[in-house]
Amino acid sequence: AHSIVILLFVTRLVSAIGKSKPWTDFLPPNLLSLDFSERIRTDSLAIESASSDYGNIVHENPAAVLYPSSTQDIVSLIKFAYNNSAPFTVSARGRSHSVFGQAMAPNGVVDMMHLRSHREQNGVIVSKNPSLGFYADVGGEQLWIDVLKATLEHGLAPVSWTDYLYLTVGGTLSNAGISGQSFRYGPQISNVYEMDVVTGKGELVTCSAHKNSELFYAVLGGLGQFGIITRARIGIEPAPKRVKWVRVLYSDFSAFTKDQERLISINGRKQSNALDYVEGSLLMNQGPPNNWRSSFFPSSDIPRIMSIVTQHGIIYCLEVAKYYDDTTQHSVAKELQQMYKGLSFIPGFKLEKDVSYVEFLDRVRNGELKLQSQGLWDVPHPWLNLFLPKSRISDFNSGVFRDIVLKRNITTGPVLIYPMNRNKWDDRTSAVIPDEEVFYTVGFLHSSGFDDWQKYDDQNKELLKFCEKAGIKVKQYFPHDKSKEEWINHFGSKWRTFRERKALFDPKMMLSPGQRIFN
Ligand code: FAD
Repeated sequence: AHSIVILLFVTRLVSAIGKSKPWTDFLPPNLLSLDFSERIRTDSLAIESASSDYGNIVHENPAAVLYPSSTQDIVSLIKFAYNNSAPFTVSARGRSHSVFGQAMAPNGVVDMMHLRSHREQNGVIVSKNPSLGFYADVGGEQLWIDVLKATLEHGLAPVSWTDYLYLTVGGTLSNAGISGQSFRYGPQISNVYEMDVVTGKGELVTCSAHKNSELFYAVLGGLGQFGIITRARIGIEPAPKRVKWVRVLYSDFSAFTKDQERLISINGRKQSNALDYVEGSLLMNQGPPNNWRSSFFPSSDIPRIMSIVTQHGIIYCLEVAKYYDDTTQHSVAKELQQMYKGLSFIPGFKLEKDVSYVEFLDRVRNGELKLQSQGLWDVPHPWLNLFLPKSRISDFNSGVFRDIVLKRNITTGPVLIYPMNRNKWDDRTSAVIPDEEVFYTVGFLHSSGFDDWQKYDDQNKELLKFCEKAGIKVKQYFPHDKSKEEWINHFGSKWRTFRERKALFDPKMMLSPGQRIFN
């Protein structure tokens, strides 16, 4: 159910409503006579399964879907597309948890998930060498939950995560892969040693910081524009057993951000008093304190939490975690006590949980299953994710959280806000972040009805306009819906390199057209 799909869009963009010509009008006639063509499907089931994503807002029918059984199938397909007299676009489709059609293509889609059942050792191989220590070679189609399970069998695990683990390795590395661990360990793209990539010319290239480094850095955060990741070598470390998971509440925004920033400033990998995870979120009357992202608050505490939410309009929730195991179980409580002393949260609003490491990392899954059972997981998701410079975060709070979000009163999903350290990101990658040492990520994770997602999108646009007018230099995470000028502006000083790398690795502009950067 969670395989990675490389979707091969072999024709022009067609709407899901069915105005399309028969696929045979768009496919190169000889495509279906090649040695991998038995794994290309053009039936309506295959087409439909590749025509939507988690956002459920953009729908596009591909002409064909490739279900690869090996990396070689992907190489053959892209080589064929590249050499065809009329090259066609190809999109790798991971879990398709993009929200605005980024994994779709007007021609063909490669269903990466299919590769999972064809991999040796389930696609996750743990090894060790003197220079890297432990590492895992994982298929680009693997889900992070499966990487976690496989590495834990060796008592090891990656250190940088996303909040939700049912995403593919190739999908998150094409963006950045962030969560509460990023302040300390960097995003997932800062924890990759090496990759195998099929470029837009159909060449299978092994790349790293030392070998084919231009491709390596291009692909990390590269929005699928330079190649399809078929293997990534990821750093892993001894895994902790348990987690102290804490939430404290604030009514004062500056006290909240001051504490967040202080906590992420102790960020050394080996420092024992450093936290392992720092995030934050808003509590508002528009939604319950517990939501699909995690059901943390005990029901007995909800009334008193809601009463301070009503009193202040917005309550800011700081969320931290400290890992521990048998050797550190005696010191962890003392370290947390020490930390609490330095924090300015509302007295009495400190809630602590003690959970297993897996329970903590996989905390979103229960909410997903619950919504799925209610038919509410597959609704439209007009999300907006931003990176903001620390120097303007207070203006963002007053202009956006208080003046737009609170007044419009439509937010029904989690709103996340937490800081990260720029020095944990590598500027040579394609990822784009603000030009300040500390920056925040803010995520509006809206769920809407099928006929009212537009009003959430309008709010997203309104707050982007506010930022532009106020001179707040935001960068979008999962950017979408941009004109050429806006893309140039988004990449800023990286645009030239991004364009040059495209010319180098995907000169016929075939890959991931759903991002709508070059197409
Ligand atoms: P897809 O949507 O399938 O693809 C995304 C893009 O990557 C497309 O352009 C596609 O062509 C390309 N691509 C896919 N596979 C490959 C590959 N192997 N090689 C090259 N390009 C490829 N993100 C975070 O950083 N942190 C979070 O905490 C987080 N939580 C999330 C929670 C939920 C419920 C959801 C829906 C999303 C979340 N995301 C988060 C966003 C997520 O990381 C991105 O949407 C990511 O792209 C999803 O991976 P995917 O496998 O579904 O990719």
